[in-house]
Amino acid sequence: MIFTDRAKTVLEIRYLLKNEKGEPIENPEQLFQRVSSYIAQAEKIYKKNSFEWEEKFHELISSLRFLPNSPALMNAGKPKAQLAACFVLPIEDSIESIFKTLKDAALILQSGGGTGFNFSSLRPKGDVVRSTGGVASGPVSFMKIFDKASDIIKQGGARRGANMGVLRVDHPDIFEFIRIKRIESLSNFNISVAVTDSFMEALFKNDYFPLINPRTKEVVRKVKAKDIFDEIVESAWETGDPGVIFIDTINRSNPTPHIGQIDSTNPCGEQPLLPYEACILGSLNLSKYVKEGKIDFERLEHDVKTATRFLDDAIDVTHYPVPEVEKMHKGNRKIGLGIMGWADCLVELGIPYNHKKALALAEQVMQFISEKSHKASQELAQERGVFPNFKGSVWEKKGIPMRNATTTTIAPTGTISIIADCSSGIEPYFLLAYKQRILDTEFEIINKYLIEIAQKQGFYSEDFINQLRQKGTLRGMKEVPLRIKRLFKTALEITPEEHIQMQASFQKYTDNAVSKTINLSQRTRKEDVARIFILAYKKGLKGITIFRYGSKRGTLLKISDAH
Ligand code: ADP
Repeated sequence: MIFTDRAKTVLEIRYLLKNEKGEPIENPEQLFQRVSSYIAQAEKIYKKNSFEWEEKFHELISSLRFLPNSPALMNAGKPKAQLAACFVLPIEDSIESIFKTLKDAALILQSGGGTGFNFSSLRPKGDVVRSTGGVASGPVSFMKIFDKASDIIKQGGARRGANMGVLRVDHPDIFEFIRIKRIESLSNFNISVAVTDSFMEALFKNDYFPLINPRTKEVVRKVKAKDIFDEIVESAWETGDPGVIFIDTINRSNPTPHIGQIDSTNPCGEQPLLPYEACILGSLNLSKYVKEGKIDFERLEHDVKTATRFLDDAIDVTHYPVPEVEKMHKGNRKIGLGIMGWADCLVELGIPYNHKKALALAEQVMQFISEKSHKASQELAQERGVFPNFKGSVWEKKGIPMRNATTTTIAPTGTISIIADCSSGIEPYFLLAYKQRILDTEFEIINKYLIEIAQKQGFYSEDFINQLRQKGTLRGMKEVPLRIKRLFKTALEITPEEHIQMQASFQKYTDNAVSKTINLSQRTRKEDVARIFILAYKKGLKGITIFRYGSKRGTLLKISDAH
C-alpha cells in the first residue's frame, strides 16, 4: 500500500488505534484489516461466511477504491464502535426536549458523528413562557448553547464539531437567524434556511409572505418574500452562511413519508434525514476506475455491489449512542454510497470539468451507480428481508423490495479523499499547488496529474513549478498548451452555472443529496448570488451552499483546522 506523507500524517493523528500514551499501536494496513474484519462480523447474523466477505472488503478498501466515512475508519473494532457520520435530532418547544437533544448531540459528537437540527418548533423570541411567566429567548439563543457545548466536547474528542442548524423560512425569528453568522462565529455550525415552494412562489410574484408562530400557529406578520431573500443573499455573500435547503423538493423524494417528514440535513447538507435518523456513508474513488481511456464499468459494478453490502453490514455492527436513533436507523436502513476523485477521473479521461461531456458522463456514472446499488439492495432484501419500515414506503408502492430506504449520497469526503490521495467528492480542483498545515507539519501539494503531463509534454521546468506555486492555476502561463489549461481549470475559473450544472447532473440519480460548494470569485456581486440561488431551485437541487473567495467564513471542515 502506498500512502502520501500527508495521508500517513492524517492516519496517524486521527485514525490509527493508540495506546494510553497516545502512540499508534497499528499501521495503516492493520487499520484496514480491523475495519474489514469488524464490518464482516455482520455476515454471521445472516449465517454467511464472514471470512469470505472480510477478504472482499479488505481488497476493496486497501486498494483505496472505496473508503467508508471517517467514524467507520476510526471506531470499527473499538468497544463502542459508532460508525455513522450523519445524524439528525428533533427539537421540540420545551426545555426538556432541548436539553435531551443537547445531551444526545454531545454523545454523537463524542463518537465522531455530525448532527443536524431544525430549530423551527421553538417559539420565537419574546413569546410568552407560561410556566415561568417570562419571555422566550428564541431559537437562535438555543443554537448558541449547542455551539458552546460542541466547543467544549471537541476539546476532548476526535475532531472538531460539525452541526447543521436549520430554520424554516416562515419562522418569526428568520431575520435574526439569517444574520447570525455576520455577528457571531458559531464556528461549530453550518446554517441553512429551509425554503418552501410557497416562499419561492411569493418571491417570484414579489408577494408578501406570512411569518407564523409555531406555538400558536398564528400569522405574526407578513413581510415581502424579497426582503427575506435579500437578507439570505447578503449574509451568504458576506460569510458563506446561510445555505439554503429546498425542503419541499427534499420531501418529494422522501422514501418513507409514512414514518415522518424530513426537516433537516446532516452538517454538510448531503444527507436529508428524519428526526432521530442516521446514515453511514462510503465513497468509491473514481480515479481508480479509468482503464485505457475509459471508465471500467465492469469493475465499478462489482465494487458497487460489495460496497453496498459493506454499508448494509455496517448498520448491524454499529453501536448507537442514542437508542431512538438505533430504532430509526435500523427501521429505514439508509446508506449513502457516493463517489470521490471525480476531478481526477475527468483529467485521466481528458475531459474538462466544465465541458458538456463531463455533465453527460456525470449523469451516466451516477445513474449506473444508483441502478447497481439499488439492485444490490434488492438482492440483500431477498437474502435478509426488506427494511422494517418498508410497508407503506414509496418502494412498496413501486413494488420494489429494498433492504435500504436509500442507497446513494455524494459526500464532501474532506478527509477520506486525503487518505485515498484523490480529489474530494465531485469538486473541481481548488488550486493546482497549495500548502496545507496538519498540526505542526506543512505539506506542499502539487497536482500529480499535472506534473506527469508537464513532464510528458515537455513544459516541466523549475520556473513552471515556481509560477504554479505562486498562482495555483495555469492562467497566463504561455508555455502551457491551451488544451491543458482547459483540462486543469480550477474552481474559480469555472462559472457558477457550470458548478450548479454539475451538482444537478449528479443529483438527478442520487437518492439523498449532493455535497457541492459553489465557489465564487471575490468580485461576485450580490445579484449574482441571488441568481445562483434561484437557478439552484429551478434545477431541482435539494440545497445549495456558496463560498465567495475572500469572504469570512466561520465553519470549514478541514483537518488542518482540527486543533
Ligand atoms: P470524511 O471525509 O471525514 O469521511 P466528509 O467530509 O465526507 O467526511 O463529511 C461527511 C459527513 O461527516 C459530514 O456531512 C458530517 O455529517 C460528518 N462530519 C464531517 N466532519 C465532521 C466533524 N469534524 N465532526 C463531526 N462530524 C463530521
